[in-house]
Amino acid sequence: MTPHGSIQTPSFVAVGTQGTVKSLSVEDLREIGNQVIIANAYHLHLQPGEELIEGMGGLHRFMGWQGPLITDSGGFQIFSLGAGKEHGVGKIAPIFPVEQDRGGHLSWKTGKPLVKVDDDGVEFVSYLDGSPHRFTPEGVIEIEKRLGADVILVLDECTSPLHDYHYTRVAMARTHRWALRALEAFQRTSNSTQALLGIVQGGAYQDLRQESASFIADQTFDGYAIGGSLGSSKEEMHQVLDWTLPLLPPDKPRHLLGIGEVGDIFEVVKRGIDLFDCVAPTRMARTGTLLVKSAKRFRINILNRQFKDDARPIQEGCHCYTCCHHSRAYVRHLFLAKEVLAIRLATVHNLYFVESLMGQIRAAIRERRFAALEKEWLGQF
Ligand SMILES: [Zn+2]
Repeated sequence: MTPHGSIQTPSFVAVGTQGTVKSLSVEDLREIGNQVIIANAYHLHLQPGEELIEGMGGLHRFMGWQGPLITDSGGFQIFSLGAGKEHGVGKIAPIFPVEQDRGGHLSWKTGKPLVKVDDDGVEFVSYLDGSPHRFTPEGVIEIEKRLGADVILVLDECTSPLHDYHYTRVAMARTHRWALRALEAFQRTSNSTQALLGIVQGGAYQDLRQESASFIADQTFDGYAIGGSLGSSKEEMHQVLDWTLPLLPPDKPRHLLGIGEVGDIFEVVKRGIDLFDCVAPTRMARTGTLLVKSAKRFRINILNRQFKDDARPIQEGCHCYTCCHHSRAYVRHLFLAKEVLAIRLATVHNLYFVESLMGQIRAAIRERRFAALEKEWLGQF
């Protein structure tokens, strides 16, 4: 339950980093059945700035979205995108194209420092204009308070699989100290309608994940997010969740930051995740990769020649706007002609696909037939 409506869980969270789910209007999102959007405090701070958004009536009004809204703190972006371009970073894989010295200074391989972390906070340069910025746990709460989302996240220090045990431990301890400062700042200044999530860190190390989950669970957060490196394989991600989730209170929402392929969705829901966000459905749509239940890995590349004169919808039986009105041949033509409508139609279908899957999962959980649904989806190949 949020001040802008309740969220039926488990739920996918659409990624609206810059205050928009790329290429879609909020009307499109409502029609798709999207329940909740996650925007990013780091990006919105750099552009257009929280003062402007607050002056325009807050992020809900600025975006024209009256449903539930989350802001991520930007810890992941600061530490992974130091220089600022969002190319293909994922949670499972080496995520930082940078090197780190023992002092925790990240740099590109050119040696130019991008991010400098100390106990008080983190300094970084804007990817837009190179201007210097400093985030502290208290400062980020202030930014997120001014943006005014329903659910906000604390600032954390995000580590990658490239970090060793020692550094991951140091960063986790710092994240915990920052969590306490953020909580104190939140309780001191926040209006009571916002909810604050703590973030569990600890990399792919069992004792660190368990220590972090216990510590964060002991604080008076309204819910919990699982952040940082989830290892370098799906098995490691499952392990991280198996270590972490039993230690978090089941009566408060648990959010997994940044995962969402079909197989992953079943795995994380099974383990008790309530909310998860992922850029994959929207990012894939923009390159013509469309989600189809019967296809290998649940996806087709609409640019393939085989779809040239295919009069069928992207997915037979799909009720999304795109499938109700257009053929594969038409969507392919739009991509080849570089028409902007291609991206919108593809994004509508991919998000509808995920929302429809989540609706099926929620019904299956209510009717106690989750395992049968999982088998129907994953056992078909
Ligand atoms: Zn469709």
